[in-house]
Amino acid sequence: METRKVDQDKRKLVIIGSGPAGFTAAIYAARANLQPLLFEGFMSGPSGGQLMSTTEVENYPGFPDGILGPELMMNFRSQAERFGTKILTEDVISIDLSKRPFNIKGSSREVEADSIIIATGATAKRLDIDGSRDGEFWQKGVTACAVCDGAAPIFKNRPLFVIGGGDSAVEEAIFLTKYGSMVYIVHRRDQLRASKIMAERALNHPKIKFLWNSAIKKISGDRVVQRVNVNNVATGETIEHEAGGVFFAIGHQPNTQFLKGQLKTNETGYILVTPGTTYTSVEGVFAAGDVQDPIYRQAVTAAGSGCMAALDAEKWLSKMGIE
Ligand code: NAP
Repeated sequence: METRKVDQDKRKLVIIGSGPAGFTAAIYAARANLQPLLFEGFMSGPSGGQLMSTTEVENYPGFPDGILGPELMMNFRSQAERFGTKILTEDVISIDLSKRPFNIKGSSREVEADSIIIATGATAKRLDIDGSRDGEFWQKGVTACAVCDGAAPIFKNRPLFVIGGGDSAVEEAIFLTKYGSMVYIVHRRDQLRASKIMAERALNHPKIKFLWNSAIKKISGDRVVQRVNVNNVATGETIEHEAGGVFFAIGHQPNTQFLKGQLKTNETGYILVTPGTTYTSVEGVFAAGDVQDPIYRQAVTAAGSGCMAALDAEKWLSKMGIE
């Protein structure tokens, strides 16, 4: 039978998530002497969240020459530790909000907490295309992160296909021009959702072509991806293209499955907070970062809401007489 270690100290505050929101919440909470415990995840992805799969971050204020995403996140982590945050390198499997203190089950230990900040972020979405699944060509030429995987030798000088029409699709396509022989953006409509400046860069790029009103119907190959069948949804025509890789860039899904419906979310799963605050539908539980933000989703807005969550939690704990 599985043995679970129960963390003997009941914590005033547990933070779940290790992106800009989680670590900023930890920095503020630790400096307020709340001795936070932070679950940074393990199997769920690298500590640091989505910026770990980014290269240069040029829009985080304070770094006029840019900073590498992983380096920025290591700085966040060290700063949180410096003020006494205890970091657990494991995933949270479930939480129980039906009793107080709340119970948090990690993969190897259980913790009790008076308050929780949820900052578990969001994950890139995939499409269920023939040939794209686990055991087919997933991670053998099909990926959801160009920046993480684009430099792999299988993509070098090959035609690469990016699915989506938002800023991510455009940004990833531009990035992939460094590696592929040609990059095709496959978009289901005939207009980009991406911002004008990004769209223009892609539209004017000599190594980017657009397949409008199109969808990839099948991915095939041998050991790795070799071909894609692209269907033009306007004409009904399907064309087979030589391909070295397929990159999903169709948005994100908030990481809220472990909540099992205990907090109010919108229809896509983003946690609902009282506007202008980080208060969720359960008192003592706060949410920060992309897990509650389907709109802005920037590192700096995530960090800002992490700060808000720590201040909200501190005020709430003090109102409850938990100092
Ligand atoms: P997004 O803006 O939601 O765009 C998702 C794209 O995927 C849309 O073009 C959408 O098509 C398409 N799509 C969604 N579901 C699909 C499906 N089932 N089949 C085919 N296509 C599908 O997501 P994002 O590009 O990841 O951007 C998210 C946010 O981050 C945005 O606010 C964006 O501005 C920001 N961002 C900024 C930068 C930057 O400034 N450097 C970089 C990346 C992201 P439709 O257009 O038809 O809906």
